[in-house]
Amino acid sequence: MTRKIADCRKYPSETDCTLTIAGEENEVVRAASEHAASVHGHQDGPELREQVRGMLEDERVGV
Ligand SMILES: [Zn+2]
Repeated sequence: MTRKIADCRKYPSETDCTLTIAGEENEVVRAASEHAASVHGHQDGPELREQVRGMLEDERVGV
């Protein structure tokens, strides 16, 4: 299984956030959206979730 990653450091923020969220796509989208809403003051909703989904990356797993 390939996990998805949302890395807050790669996105401009006013708080210098270093959070990384990894997991299955739907989990990451939900957690990152809630994080963006609670920490970064974004409006949680379908638009934010679409945006979050677009910024996910595949986790690179060393073998
Ligand atoms: Zn953040």
